[in-house]
Amino acid sequence: MKKIGLLGGMSWESTTAYYRLINEGVKDALGGLHSAELLLYSVDFAPIEKLMQKARWEAVAELVVEGAKRVELGGADFLLICTNTMHICAQKVEAELSIPLLHIADATAEALIESGIKKVGLLGTSFTMEEDFYKGRLKDRHGLEVLVPERGDRTFVNEVIFDELCCGVACGPSKDGYLRIIDDLAARGAEGIILGCTEIGMLISQKDTPVPLFDTTVLHAKKAVEMALAT
Ligand code: GLU
Repeated sequence: MKKIGLLGGMSWESTTAYYRLINEGVKDALGGLHSAELLLYSVDFAPIEKLMQKARWEAVAELVVEGAKRVELGGADFLLICTNTMHICAQKVEAELSIPLLHIADATAEALIESGIKKVGLLGTSFTMEEDFYKGRLKDRHGLEVLVPERGDRTFVNEVIFDELCCGVACGPSKDGYLRIIDDLAARGAEGIILGCTEIGMLISQKDTPVPLFDTTVLHAKKAVEMALAT
């Protein structure tokens, strides 16, 4: 089994889900008392989030690369950055590390393509919904058409992520708002929705909507298990 490296803490709420999903995946595959061999480095998110809000991406990238190097030094065979947004630094991480990065957008795109989906709605932080690092990769590498919510709805989705979900709060009115936005995206032609923030699964699950959902935390963790167990 390969050793999975996790760069987590962004937020730790979703990192706990990664830990559980990866161990469940290994147990399902190998049975008995089998569990994942993994290394986790978990950051203090508060100073990083402050830098993000000021768009100080160089400084953010330095911290992300530093964390990723700790995981590599610990002996991981490959790395997952346990957040969609921080893939804004993916190229820098790849350039500084000698182990491969399992990109969250690639793991997600693979599942979308397997489902025959061509046009997809994207929910995530403002950075993920508005910048090109994520949508561009889905479009250019995977041929997917990506729709995002209207401006006011993007602000709402982003605020719920940082003010509630990353603080461990999942509440009814926010869930209703997300479901309305998912319906709007479906009405605009989205055949499925990417839960493109690793905390959104705390709020919304497939039982809440008939629109197919693609939870990036689940898909990223599943792909990590496949990679770890591949011979
Ligand atoms: N975990 C979130 C994501 O997947 C948002 C927090 C962050 O900016 O890292 O994008």
